[in-house]
Amino acid sequence: MPSQRDIIRQRLARERGTLFRDAPDRVALLYPSPYSVGMSSLGFQLMYRALNERPEMVAERAFLPDDVAGALQSREPLLTYESQRPVGDCPVIALSVAYEGELGTMLQALELAGVPVFREDREGGRYPFILCGGPLTFSNPVPLAAYVDAVIIGEAEDVVHQVFDVLLSTHDRAQRERKLAEIDHVWVPGLHGEALPPVAKARDELLPAYAQIMTPDTELSDMFLIETERGCSRGCQYCVMRRSTNGGMRLAPIEKILSIIPDDAKKVGLVGAAVSDHPKIVELVNTLADQGRGVGLSSLRPDRLTDAFVGALKRGGYRTLTTAMDGPSERLRAMLERHAKVKHLERAAALARAHQMQTLKLYLMVGLPGETDEDIDECVAFVTQLSKVNPIALGIAPFVSKRKTPLDGLPFAGIEVVEGRLDRLRKGLKGRADVRPTSARWAWIEWVLAQGGERAGRAVYDAMRAGGRFADYRKAFEAAGVVPGKRRKLMVVKASEDAS
Ligand code: SF4
Repeated sequence: MPSQRDIIRQRLARERGTLFRDAPDRVALLYPSPYSVGMSSLGFQLMYRALNERPEMVAERAFLPDDVAGALQSREPLLTYESQRPVGDCPVIALSVAYEGELGTMLQALELAGVPVFREDREGGRYPFILCGGPLTFSNPVPLAAYVDAVIIGEAEDVVHQVFDVLLSTHDRAQRERKLAEIDHVWVPGLHGEALPPVAKARDELLPAYAQIMTPDTELSDMFLIETERGCSRGCQYCVMRRSTNGGMRLAPIEKILSIIPDDAKKVGLVGAAVSDHPKIVELVNTLADQGRGVGLSSLRPDRLTDAFVGALKRGGYRTLTTAMDGPSERLRAMLERHAKVKHLERAAALARAHQMQTLKLYLMVGLPGETDEDIDECVAFVTQLSKVNPIALGIAPFVSKRKTPLDGLPFAGIEVVEGRLDRLRKGLKGRADVRPTSARWAWIEWVLAQGGERAGRAVYDAMRAGGRFADYRKAFEAAGVVPGKRRKLMVVKASEDAS
């Protein structure tokens, strides 16, 4: 087995853009998932560059090891990448948490770093200050309360510098917390309890975000990531990034995007909540294809697909056309306020065929509020029809209601219900479509944490201690008294409520 240092050195040797610096103050940017996932996060890469632009400090990356069990057994301390020094020796550890499922791995990462995971156990000792940010902060970071010292809520570009001005000005923990609590958009659980400040919005002139490092060792191998827009002007009922979250979509001009992409980037990943809504997206994809580069988009809305657009994607190297079907039936898609309609999905299949795509991949949710077997049967009939046009793959996720959305507070449909619906889909589409669902059990865990507070977060520690299996989570949540969650009837927000 290669050692942690060997793995790090091999990866560093294949990276382009790594920042090797020295400065009096060091922060570990810790991603609580493996390297291949963390390096695909544009937000993580953005913070890496932003903090290394401060002359008085250096930011070094660290990740959850690929083999966590082996790492825990070997008791070798978790190391940063750039200097290969122990993460636990850094005065500040800045964590990026993307979603609820990373709470457990965050605890593993802190344990590997030799840091007591509970905030109360770090009091009085010379332990690192634990700062947190990332996509989870847009919805419900409260389950983090027992573990972290402070959290930047929302877009961190501006706020992170105010936070580090404080962290570098004093090492006194109480003073740090007091001063940080005065900064807008910073949540200090020890002082604020479960009351969250509003989500931060970065200045437009700081957009677009773009990657600092390219590496072949990620899912998006050697792809240069750059943002084309931030936020979204649509109002999908379940989505945290909907228009009311941060003032709608903010566009990056394509001239600016093109000027940032380095000459040696053979592949470019265009990132954003609603990339295909950029008014110049076809021109941008065609320009990149003309330059001989491959192109990938993080999101494609079906109502935006045209012959010119899909043609441009094909030129940019697309072999699978991936878009969102959202819900299994037209009725449920309307309830979600999605713009995907039967006619758009039919056109997507026709365009996939016309441009010789190997597969049309459609994402949808099941276990939606008000869903019945009839909705599933409609999906089977419709996808059967589409499969006669082009090979189809379905990427299916169980619906999980999130805070700060109109569907907040809705119960989970039930593991058996979801599994039953998935089974019905699988059987109905056997031999006609490739059905790839994510786990109903893990979606239930995600739901408990998406809707939960500090107690639900603390239960994650017990679940991980017991082995981190589904049964361990269920037992820990039951013991903590955090399931079943609150229930209420479905209320769909009126258009006027969030028209912005
Ligand atoms: S289009 Fe996508 S990002 Fe925009 S609100 Fe809907 S789900 Fe969210």
